[in-house]
Amino acid sequence: MTIKDITAMVLRLPEVTDACDGTQDTCLIRIETDEGIAGWGEVDSCPTVVKAIVDAPLSHQICNGLANALRGEDPLAIEVCTDRMMNAANYYGRAAAGLHAMAGINQALWDIAGKASGQPVYQLLGGPYKNKFRAYCSILFGDTPDETYELGRKFANEGFTAIKFGWGPMGQDEATDIALVREARRGIGEEVDLLIDAGQVWNWKTALKRAHQFAEYSPFLIEEPLHPQDVAGYSRLTADSPIPIASGEAEGRYEDFERLVVEGGLDWIQPDPGRCGISTMVQVGRMTARHRTGVINHSFKSGITISASLHALATLPHGEIFEYCMSDSPLRHDITREKFEIVDGYAHVMDAPGLGVTIDMDTVERYRVA
Ligand SMILES: [Mg+2]
Repeated sequence: MTIKDITAMVLRLPEVTDACDGTQDTCLIRIETDEGIAGWGEVDSCPTVVKAIVDAPLSHQICNGLANALRGEDPLAIEVCTDRMMNAANYYGRAAAGLHAMAGINQALWDIAGKASGQPVYQLLGGPYKNKFRAYCSILFGDTPDETYELGRKFANEGFTAIKFGWGPMGQDEATDIALVREARRGIGEEVDLLIDAGQVWNWKTALKRAHQFAEYSPFLIEEPLHPQDVAGYSRLTADSPIPIASGEAEGRYEDFERLVVEGGLDWIQPDPGRCGISTMVQVGRMTARHRTGVINHSFKSGITISASLHALATLPHGEIFEYCMSDSPLRHDITREKFEIVDGYAHVMDAPGLGVTIDMDTVERYRVA
């Protein structure tokens, strides 16, 4: 089997705001093979930049577009494909958007491998340890503490056993920060786990102070309190924080995840398969298992990303909880026919070959802009 072509598709809602909501646009990857099998992936990045990286024409030996790099290659030789892409992007794409584009392609390659062999991706990767994960409801903070209270009540009433609030007004001032967490806890009640995604707003000293101030509301974890590259800050924060600290969604390279664990001392690592790919997510997850560090997916996109996350988690010995994005965007819910409904608080891994998702081409065509 060989790769015939790779298409990057940019989908976008008619109106996009500056809210930190990754379901307003997306970039889908479709890989076609000469045997008629097609694989799908999804990237969580700047979609038009990713499309440019996939489509770029040849500049020279170590500067080429990813579609050019993979045409004619064997899609089942996934590590070889990764190597070809790293060589092609050597000049411009060994980090950030370059890796994000490769991550979407990596998902699509695993989808093809599963479809070609009639097996779900988790099986090809040696799993499953588990086939369902406790889902936490992932939403943004309300614009005010009062709104946050109402959101907490609403989603706790839907039966979630864990709820994460993110970004929004967090970081504006001390009193608001505390009020947001207090009202989040009041809204969800004492029985539901409370997760806080701070949104990279503090330095380590402020984050440590907040961790102590939030402690009476017993958060399960605080996510991304610092800039993603502030490994030294994470090291200081995790040494003394009374609340577990999580980060990693921004990373694409294995080495950067390893630094966050080994030097940063993080309690939870959160790889996103749309930024690091399934292969790296599994490799990172196994590394975190050796360090007795937790692993949670980061996923704020469609059913493609949800399924890729579940397959990767299923291959890890210590997968436990699952980020379940509750945005109501059609780009979150309508790209795959599979809806990933939460049953008794759990998200279930797909059993069909590949990623196990069916793409709704009506949705793709409705929102596709490039
Ligand atoms: Mg986050």
